[in-house]
Amino acid sequence: MQPLSSKLPNQGVTIFSTMTALAQRLNAINLSQGFPDFATPDALIEALCDATRAGFNQYVSGDGWLPLREQVVQQFEQRDQVRLDPVHEITITPGATIAIFAAIQAVIHTGDEVVIFDPSYDSYAPAVRVAGGIPVHLALTAPDFRVDWQQVQDNINARTRMIIVNTPHNPTGTLWTLDDWHHLIELAEKHDLIVLSDEVYEHLVFDGHHHYSALHFSTLRERSFVVGSFGKTFHVTGWKTGYCVASPMLMKLFRQIYQYANFCGNTPAQVALSQYMQQHPEHIQELGSFYQAKRDLFNQGLTQSRFKFQPTHGTYFQTVDYTAIRPDLNDLEMCYFLAEQYGVVAIPLSVFYQQPDPELRLIRFCFAKTEQTLKDATQRLSQC
Ligand code: PMP
Ligand code: GLN
Repeated sequence: MQPLSSKLPNQGVTIFSTMTALAQRLNAINLSQGFPDFATPDALIEALCDATRAGFNQYVSGDGWLPLREQVVQQFEQRDQVRLDPVHEITITPGATIAIFAAIQAVIHTGDEVVIFDPSYDSYAPAVRVAGGIPVHLALTAPDFRVDWQQVQDNINARTRMIIVNTPHNPTGTLWTLDDWHHLIELAEKHDLIVLSDEVYEHLVFDGHHHYSALHFSTLRERSFVVGSFGKTFHVTGWKTGYCVASPMLMKLFRQIYQYANFCGNTPAQVALSQYMQQHPEHIQELGSFYQAKRDLFNQGLTQSRFKFQPTHGTYFQTVDYTAIRPDLNDLEMCYFLAEQYGVVAIPLSVFYQQPDPELRLIRFCFAKTEQTLKDATQRLSQC
């Protein structure tokens, strides 16, 4: 057979798979890939068992289990005072990743440019390239990682079609302010841009900060895809259940692609999540303080170390500077050093950049872990 050409020729295995495999090989504490190591709520497990026993084991509607879509409606109504139509504006998907992928395939054509802020989640740029689009990476820089709106303006041209937003932001935990959103609204209207807003950490917000969804802004509603993940919110990343919200016009385009990428998500998981959300509204209400306590415990432990950091405002990630420890190592080398010498695995920040600064000395830890894991990890990290 003739050699085949790859659609993503420079793509290796994702850093998350690589680092989790490293942690397993070394039997190290895995603070790399973002997932909780603590138990799923009993009531949610029960709801899943009930759903399968009750016979919810066949295909669900391609657009998702309606009661779960109604829960999404309620969430946006309470937080953003926006009333969504669950039939035409919401699709439940097997995770946020496929929602992001399908949204991009739905509207990006050959040669369209898509603005991506680096550090960026690793799935955005490959999805744009598969669609034939051109990712335009704009770097956010330490320590505050805020968008330079003049730079965005300067990089918009007639081919620009979409801007990808991620707030709360993986890996830095920054949140978009009202000012950021107003800049975006102005540019999106002026240049007729589509917004893809990745809000998977929407409920993991600390210190009294507020998460603004793109849907909060009436002017963005018709031109935005908003993506969420029940996996993050309910401590079940392995259930791979998420959602996409968009105006009826965008949702129609989305479903044309999505129905052939996956057809529908997992039925019992959707039934269980809708039941649990109805019965336990406190889960979401308490999530910010639940994770803030974990962040504080982790950061408290880190104050004994030589890592430097600003407490993260959201997500379950804390980014730290290791210049005082091993400035001679680049961030990937530092992650291997920590894993091999101290038994703690992290994620290097350079993998989130198209053109990483070789002087970057930042790594990311995930603190979605039990108290014991966090204590053990910070004890080890304090020794280096
Ligand atoms: N976006 C961001 C920013 C993420 O961190 C993740 C993490 N997993 C995803 C999307 C994908 O979510 P899911 O697991 O629901 O596909
Ligand atoms: N979102 C998770 C992280 O940033 C990883 C998910 C994945 O492995 N694709 O760690």
